[in-house]
Amino acid sequence: MRRISEGLSPLKITVIYVFIASMWIVISDRLLALSVTDPERLASIEWVMESVFILITGALLYLLISRYEAAMRRSREALEESEERYRQMVENSPNPIFSVDAEGSIVMWNRACEKVFGLGREEALGMKYTELLTPEEVEQVRAMVDRVFREKRAFRDVDITYLSRDGSQRTMLSRLYPLLDGHGRVRACVFANTDVTERRRAEEELKRAYRKLKKTNEELRTLDEMKANIIANVSHELRTPITIAKGAIELAMDEQDQEKRRDLLNMAMNALLRQNFIVEDLLQAARLERGELRMEEVNLGELVERVAEEFRPVLIKHGLRMSLKVGDDLLATADPEQVEHVLRNLINNAIKFNREGGSITIEAERKDGEVEVCVSDTGIGIPEEELDRIFDRFYQIDASPTRRYGGTGLGLAIVKEIVEAHGGRVTVTSKVGEGSRFCFTLPAA
Ligand code: ADP
Repeated sequence: MRRISEGLSPLKITVIYVFIASMWIVISDRLLALSVTDPERLASIEWVMESVFILITGALLYLLISRYEAAMRRSREALEESEERYRQMVENSPNPIFSVDAEGSIVMWNRACEKVFGLGREEALGMKYTELLTPEEVEQVRAMVDRVFREKRAFRDVDITYLSRDGSQRTMLSRLYPLLDGHGRVRACVFANTDVTERRRAEEELKRAYRKLKKTNEELRTLDEMKANIIANVSHELRTPITIAKGAIELAMDEQDQEKRRDLLNMAMNALLRQNFIVEDLLQAARLERGELRMEEVNLGELVERVAEEFRPVLIKHGLRMSLKVGDDLLATADPEQVEHVLRNLINNAIKFNREGGSITIEAERKDGEVEVCVSDTGIGIPEEELDRIFDRFYQIDASPTRRYGGTGLGLAIVKEIVEAHGGRVTVTSKVGEGSRFCFTLPAA
């Protein structure tokens, strides 16, 4: 019976029933009319037959209705069971899952949501889901939810940033899909989320570490190049004076003219003094690393005048003018040898990077418990972006083998280290093409 009825539509069954019933009525009526002639008997037989017919069709109808009802009950129970199973599954899922109706109100909120968002079910139900989103993401998520309702579409693997009760942000990998009712209409939009906050954070950290590693790698490569240049430059700086001195002394040995001989020996002497200066720089760097300072009361005015005097012959040679502006009361607590070295380095640079016929000014004055010494020149100047780096050890703006100015790139690094070891500061202001001004302070005695 079930198999037959499964294959036939309700209309077909009705047509077959009407056909069989009418055939039964017509045929049984004819047969009865032929076999029974007594009208009274015929009427009573007809009455019995009609009653039997009504009973049979009634029984059939009863059978059908009760089967239909049983089937309906079974399917309702199955539906309820599956809904309960789904509810339990959602409720006990470790992932935060919630759903919203067409108005955007939250209609389902599982236990994991309570924990992750810090919002109890009573508070969350009826709330608008947009309140959980960061303002930047509201529009994008709303557009997706609209499409879930309109087009019954699902969206998978969408990163959504939610706001928790405590104000912290949580990143979730979300799936949005429609929940249909028995008629295939979208009843709700489900948000099935996986909390990936930690994963994303770890990924971000990994990316940052990678970028840092890459940067360090590049820096190492630059350092490597710098090291090669430093070795080449220092060797060159040490060798040049020897070559000059050797040549000058050889010429002097054969020179009969007293005047010319003195000039040649002077040249050799200057070359050796320059070499001494470089070696002094290297030794000073090593000494500073060991932290050696011999502090005493120093008159900086006298010290400035003495050191400036040393440079007079070199200034004449380069056609440069030097002026001193030295104030009173310039007593400082310092290591005089080291301060002389600082000043020599600054004056040496002011000469080296000056222009033909330029000038150098040295000022020293007392300022709020400190003594400040400044060396200004009218030279090539320093580009702004280089101002910080010139104090790095071995840094030279032009460190190429073809560079115009000699040097090791150690001078300013040592200047800074010495001054800071005394508790002072070094500052620089400069304008390309106009000149530079280096100042350093020392604590007044
Ligand atoms: P070096 O003079 O041996 O190269 P320094 O540490 O003394 O090393 O100086 C570092 C760099 O700073 C120099 O190579 C130069 O490019 C720049 N510099 C220093 N002083 C001056 C200055 N007075 N004028 C222009 N540039 C300067």
